[in-house]
Amino acid sequence: MPAVRPDNVLLLPRVPEPDPGVPERPVRQVVHAPTFLEGAGFPVRRPFPGQQVSLRDTDPFLLLDHLGAIEYGPGEAKGAPWHPHRGFETVTYMIDGTMRHRDSNGGGGLIADGATQWMTAGAGILHDEMPTEDLVRHGGLFHGVQLWVNLPRRLKMTPPRYQSIEGNRVALLTSADGGAVIRLIAGELAGHRGPGVTWTPITYAHVTLSPGARLVLPWRPDFNAMVYALSGRGTAGPAHVAFGEGQLVVFGAGAALSVAADRRQPAPAEALDVLVLGGQPIREPIFHYGPFVMNTHEEIVQAIEDFRAGRMGSIPAVELTPGGGPATS
Ligand code: MN
Repeated sequence: MPAVRPDNVLLLPRVPEPDPGVPERPVRQVVHAPTFLEGAGFPVRRPFPGQQVSLRDTDPFLLLDHLGAIEYGPGEAKGAPWHPHRGFETVTYMIDGTMRHRDSNGGGGLIADGATQWMTAGAGILHDEMPTEDLVRHGGLFHGVQLWVNLPRRLKMTPPRYQSIEGNRVALLTSADGGAVIRLIAGELAGHRGPGVTWTPITYAHVTLSPGARLVLPWRPDFNAMVYALSGRGTAGPAHVAFGEGQLVVFGAGAALSVAADRRQPAPAEALDVLVLGGQPIREPIFHYGPFVMNTHEEIVQAIEDFRAGRMGSIPAVELTPGGGPATS
């Protein structure tokens, strides 16, 4: 799992453990992510939305898709060809392999090896999320994550915005015991800032915990808190609740959260790799239809009309690809 690796973990700024008196968040729920086919038919694990966890608990996040890790054979790699979005932000973080992105606003580029692409769909945008031609032709390892962050009513129709965050811009931190690499992608953590600029206040990090390492993070009490295991096994919270690859931990209230990696990791995992995420709940009604997330049914109807009328932009003529129907991811 390449992502971004520091040369020497011990030289990184350390996140001090919160004082013992700080209330630690209990584990409320562990959710096993079901597998879906998305876009043109690529497999994703999706811990939410779903039957198991309430959008009230994940608010301000709407969706988390774990793409791979998958070793594609030649000709197997697929993506999500041109499709619209309105009313939220998509955040794509690539751990292994390369995703190619293009949008109707002129944004685009390659997302690879620890890079993050942040697309504020806002009032509406069309985009195309595909593996590179090289990956399609020759096959290879593909591993990434797409997170959807909701926008509050007053920002749903904000102009689209695109941020490309190279892997070397994430804030690299370590834990008090030096056993964790914390890649802070967005938001604030113990006084450090990640490079992603978010409309909705969130904290989003990719953490690698060495076998036996334990991480305790201060966590804003007004944020929700979740941990998702990309690979490996460990425990979470003061009661040491077990979880592992493909499982989402939802924490209850408190001002700190803890995660620990098992001493023995199941092969081929060499460590516990988790996403740690939380944000300020928006607490507004959610109407979700495919690629549109609004506050009312009428706004969804309007979004479909606007898309059909070409008011969310159009596919650049040079980008028209045969057989690329709209997808939803
Ligand atoms: Mn999309």
